Amino acid sequence: MDDDPAVSRAIARDLRRRYGEEYQVVRAASGPDALDALRELKLRGGRVAAILADYRMPRMSGVDFLEQAMDLFPRARRALLTAYSDTDAAIAAINVVDVDYYLLKPWEPPEEKLYPVVDALVEAWQAAGEPEVTEVKVVGHRWSAPSYAMRDFLARNQVPYRWYGADDPEGRRLLDAAGMGEDAVPLVVTPDGTPLAAPTTAQVAGAVGLATAPAADFYDLLIIGGGPAGLGAAVYGASEGLRTVLVERLAVGGQAGQSSRIENYLGFPDGVSGDQLTDRARRQAAKFGAEILSARDVTDLQVRGSARAIRFADGSEVAAHTVLLATGVSYRPLDAPGVAELTGRGVYYGSAATEAPACAGEDVYIVGGANSAGQAAVFFSRHAARVTLLVRGDSLARSMSHYLIEQLAALPNVYARTGTVVTGAHGDQRLEAISVRDADGTCETLKAGHLFVFIGAQPPTGWLCPQVRRDEQGFVCTGADLLVEGHRPPGWTLPRDPYHLETSVPGVFAAGDVRAGSVKRVASAVGEGAMAVSLVHRYLETT
Ligand SMILES: Cc1cc2nc3c(=O)[nH]c(=O)nc-3n(C[C@H](O)[C@H](O)[C@H](O)COP(=O)(O)OP(=O)(O)OC[C@H]3O[C@@H](n4cnc5c(N)ncnc54)[C@H](O)[C@@H]3O)c2cc1C
Repeated sequence: MDDDPAVSRAIARDLRRRYGEEYQVVRAASGPDALDALRELKLRGGRVAAILADYRMPRMSGVDFLEQAMDLFPRARRALLTAYSDTDAAIAAINVVDVDYYLLKPWEPPEEKLYPVVDALVEAWQAAGEPEVTEVKVVGHRWSAPSYAMRDFLARNQVPYRWYGADDPEGRRLLDAAGMGEDAVPLVVTPDGTPLAAPTTAQVAGAVGLATAPAADFYDLLIIGGGPAGLGAAVYGASEGLRTVLVERLAVGGQAGQSSRIENYLGFPDGVSGDQLTDRARRQAAKFGAEILSARDVTDLQVRGSARAIRFADGSEVAAHTVLLATGVSYRPLDAPGVAELTGRGVYYGSAATEAPACAGEDVYIVGGANSAGQAAVFFSRHAARVTLLVRGDSLARSMSHYLIEQLAALPNVYARTGTVVTGAHGDQRLEAISVRDADGTCETLKAGHLFVFIGAQPPTGWLCPQVRRDEQGFVCTGADLLVEGHRPPGWTLPRDPYHLETSVPGVFAAGDVRAGSVKRVASAVGEGAMAVSLVHRYLETT
């Protein structure tokens, strides 16, 4: 960096000649311009080996510039370029801002006067071993619900990212480089260096290359929900030639994607992790040409003649001949004082695999007694010092598969506390303790940093129009269940009964956990997704 263009051009030329194959040489004519270039490099995850700065410059002296550059790249080695008359001042600066060298102008011949100094700078930098970070960077607060939600979103979409605490030095450097304060967190920096302050998941999805917008206005089959049922339907629909689009609110995989080990899915005798299974299904569906949109929440379904239209949360729409509701179920909230406030800050729904490293050596509590809670206990037993299952019922056998109970019994750091309910969660910035009550009425407060909740689920169907009939718990009714004393549902327009997986709206089908009476299993969800596609064909052939 030198304010004399002739000098900066000449030194850049000499540096490129010697280092240009391995290093990028960036030149600037003022301190502010050079700092802008450094900020951009910081956001792009670049590394800076050495900075050479002119000592005497009008707007910002070389020393001031190097001081600020050190805030962004503390490992970069630094040298001042000085005229002979400024030598004393430059030597003084070496002590003030920890400059490694000073170089006298002119530096001819560079082989003797420039390269030996720069070689030494570069070698010292290489020895310090600065890592290159080319993936997405997230800066946030450890105990903040929005920061947790962003990490969870990226992890569930299998987008690699690097996490930085907003109060860690590197986190502060990234916030500085983006010109943002701590109130901008979570700050997401994309691999090309674009900073996004407290973005929505849809903004992040678009920025990291996940598809979020449909390529067409109209499809044969529109699938809502990217769990096993939706993915099953996408594979069969697309492979059988239907123009198929799948819309997922958060991340493809659904509940199954959160399962640490699925042991009972056909064809996997050694079990398979849910994210592996569903990632394969996603790639299979994409291979057959299904479009998969992430981070898009469907908020309305309308019947328009023979078309079925859905609306997204941002108001945009897409339509199809047929729709498959595969929206599964969502966790039922744990109703106890303090839980809502501490969700994402020590209280988590589902197994929240991103939290596993933070549980190392800690006591972890899991609420629930079904298979999902058991699997989570097995998973966290590998990380935490001790895992306690808090089970409302008097025995695990009532709600958990035999094979899981046996697995848990063999783990020395897993305990089941039956007949126990959680009555409160306590903590200021994060979860610090929980209150529990045993069946005999004894109350106790337990020190707790992590509480994972698995207490059953409810279907997220409140947004559906009233024409789509649901049972009293919100599960979607289909097929013969819609007939009351042999009568078809009100508003039914076709001269036939609803097909097995068809809802009270012709051409709208339901599959998987969201369907009333369905078996809540991965295999049955996949099977229903496939079966729904054959019914879609039948519907399209006859209408
Ligand atoms: C931790 C855990 C472990 C489990 N382990 C096993 C096991 O070992 N074996 C087994 O057989 N089963 C297991 N299950 C059950 C199994 O995962 C479910 O039965 C299965 O995932 C249901 O699939 P689905 O496609 O019907 O719904 P889900 O998997 O619930 O998927 C529904 C998807 O729809 C999306 N969605 C919802 N509403 C909207 C909307 N409005 N717009 C857009 N998208 C929306 C959701 O985000 C979700 O991704 C487990 C469940 C859990 C939670």
